Order: sequence, then C-alpha cells, then structure tokens
Amino acid sequence: MVKAVVGANWGDEGKGKITDMMAANADIIVRFQGGANAGHTIVNNYGKFALHTLPSGVFYSHTTSIIGNGVALNIPILINEINSIVEKGVPAPKILVSDRAQIVMPYHILFDQYEEERLGKASFGSTKSGIAPFYSDKYAKIGYQVQELFDEKLLKEKVVRTCEQKNVLLEHLYHKPLLTPEELLNTLHEYRDMIAPYVCDTSAYLWNALKEDKTILLEGQLGTLKDPDHGIYPMVTSSSTLAPYGCIGAGIPAQELKQVVTVCKAYSSAVGAGAFVSEIFGDEADELRRRGGDGGEFGATTGRPRRMGWFDCVASKYGCRMQGTTDVAFTVVDVLGYLDEIPVCVGYEIDGEVTTDFPVTSKLEKAKPVLVTLPGWKCDIRGIKKYEDLPENCREYIEFIEKEIGFPITMISNGPSRDDIIYR
Ligand code: GDP
Repeated sequence: MVKAVVGANWGDEGKGKITDMMAANADIIVRFQGGANAGHTIVNNYGKFALHTLPSGVFYSHTTSIIGNGVALNIPILINEINSIVEKGVPAPKILVSDRAQIVMPYHILFDQYEEERLGKASFGSTKSGIAPFYSDKYAKIGYQVQELFDEKLLKEKVVRTCEQKNVLLEHLYHKPLLTPEELLNTLHEYRDMIAPYVCDTSAYLWNALKEDKTILLEGQLGTLKDPDHGIYPMVTSSSTLAPYGCIGAGIPAQELKQVVTVCKAYSSAVGAGAFVSEIFGDEADELRRRGGDGGEFGATTGRPRRMGWFDCVASKYGCRMQGTTDVAFTVVDVLGYLDEIPVCVGYEIDGEVTTDFPVTSKLEKAKPVLVTLPGWKCDIRGIKKYEDLPENCREYIEFIEKEIGFPITMISNGPSRDDIIYR
C-alpha cells in the first residue's frame, strides 16, 4: 500500500514531522520531487535535524529511504547529510538512489545565482540551489542521469557538449567564468564514486516491495500552491508537488496510492515572492513568526524570515482538492494559544465579488481577504492526547476550518515531537 504526505499550501506546513511520525508504520519512504531547496525540520530522540535531501524516515532502523527518479539529486549535499546524521549518533540509514534520478550540477547552482542577480528586483526569491536550471535541463533533455555516471565514453563526449552550450550563456549573458570539460569530468568522477554504493533500480525495488505487501510512504516537499501547473505560476517550484506525481517521481503504479495525508498548518506562512492573500505585517506578523513552528518561522534552508498570515480556507480547500486528500493533518495548533481572537480568511474579494474558489494568478494578485474572527482559547494545549480534552474554542476553530475546506481533519498536531498528535 502506498501513502503520501504532502502540503496544502506554500510549504513548511509541518510535513517532516507527520512523515517522521507515519514512518513508524512504514517500510519504505520515498522522496519523489524537488531537491535540496526546501527543508524539513524534525525533532526526535537523537536531536533536532534540518533535512534537505534525505527522506524523513532515516531515523528509524526498520525503514529504507529512497531518492526517487523525480528528485533533483545534489550528490555532495546528500553525502554530507548522511555523514552529519551518523555523526550525531543516528544508526547508518539504508538509502537507495534511483539510477534514473538526475544530478544537480555545480553549474545549475551558478546559473540559479546568476539569473537571480540578473533579474534583480524581479527575482523569484529562489533558494539558489540550482533547482530551476536543473529541471530546465531535464526537460530540455540535456541533464545527467545517475546511470550515465557509469558510462565513461558517454560522459567524455557529453561534457564537451555541455560546456559548449553553457559557455554561450556564461560568456554573453552573465559575463562569468567559463566551464571546462576536464573540470566537469573530474566533478562527475567524484560524484560517481560518492553515489555508487547507493544506486539501484528503485522502481523494480518498489514493485517487489508492493508484491510483498510493504507500506510505502511518499514524502512531498513544498505544497500545492508551489506546483508548476496548479500553483501560483510563475512563483512556483519546478517539479510537481502533488501526491499523484509521487507515483511518477517514485516509479510506482498510480492505483496503488490509497491514502493522501495533506498537511495544513493552523496559520499560514510562505517564502519567496508571489501573492499571499491572508498575509499580515508589522508587530502582528512578528509575534506569530517568533512564536511559530518550533523556535520561529525561519527558512530551514536559508534562515530567511517567513512571510506570515492567517489561515486561508480558500487556498487550503483548493490545496487539499488538488492533492486528492483522504486525510488532513492540521499542525502547529498549539502556537495559536496566545491569541484573544483568531482571524481566518474565508473568501477572496476580487473586483467587488467574493469567491471561495482559488483563482489564477492574475486574479489572485487583486484578491483581498474576507476575514471572520473566531475566539481564541488562551491556553497551552501541548501534551493533550484526546480530542475531547482540547478547549472548546480550539475544537470550534478546527471544526470551522474542516467545514470550510471540506476535507476531514483526522490528525491534530499540538507540538513538534512525534508524540504530539491527536487522532480523531
Ligand atoms: P515541512 O517542510 O512541511 O516539514 O515544515 P517545516 O520543517 O518548516 O516544519 C515546521 C516547523 O514546525 C518545524 O520546526 C517543526 O518542528 C515544527 N512543528 C511541526 N509540527 C508542529 C506542531 O504541531 N507544533 C509546533 N509548535 N511546531 C511544530
């Protein structure tokens, strides 16, 4: 059986924690898209970890972690991450890397930086991890698959073509140092030696696992609104963030996906540019940012302060719908305990009309939030294990949002650790 954990919004909903928790009952955890651009923060018995490439299941000795074919694989970052968790006392995880995954090259990272520099004020707010140039090359069919690292003849020819192509841009568009085939080939040799122990035909491995009735967890990065097709284009990421894509990015049959847990945070946050209708500013935002998450809402990759906002029912309803949600995990509810009243965005006013359907980007930019205010619960709900034991106003907040988004909230997260969870 295959399950997915994905985000409903702009990312940072707390997927890492939910995946880590669900991994207790899974055999295999697969990353299926994205790269080292986003990060998960996980708190467990070994400490606090910010993972960028490793699946959140690496902390269990019973799980196998897979980097699927859909991932933008940054080999040095992966190896550093493995070393860093082992150094902190985590048993060496079992990791398999798809032979069809493609490799983030050093020049992808450079192009990401150069392009953001060139765009200046019009930049995307990229994490400069090379993700957009990487996926551009993948779909332009000039990327490097992991399996190609083991074909010396192919590599020798391909690095020459790569340099020819990339150097045109480096010289004439960016005015930056050029690439040389020798240097590139050396890098690829280093990558080959680093990744060799992990390479595997992961779709065959997963197929066999399904035949043996194993439980596979697909771990998404970012959220619906960053999907290149269904998100706030062009302020999106470069690979699909949707659960159905998990089947493609992992290489498993789509009909095996039985449970989609969509993670929604009890308030909103976003990083990077783009419309954010329920955004708040000033002291109100600073306070929520400071109290948010586990130690504040700051980017796991960049440390950038996240943009903050109230819960957005319009975006979340759409976010859940596009994921094919079976369950909503509603996270970070404990953080709202300080508020007397909690505004919630229930509609968008666009050109004088109110809608609850998430619009295309040009309309989204004109949208103003329609807010309702619910009473706060003014207490600390951490440590509560049963839904009935939550304060009434907290249950009303949850039930109000459940009704607005139209998908069942079956898990409520009231703290950063694995056990801070209430099942409904
Ligand atoms: P992800 O990328 O979706 O995994 O999101 P992040 O890594 O940004 O996770 C959000 C942050 O919130 C992390 O620091 C988590 O440890 C923390 N977190 C997750 N769930 C909860 C929760 O229910 N309450 C609190 N206070 N923090 C949480």
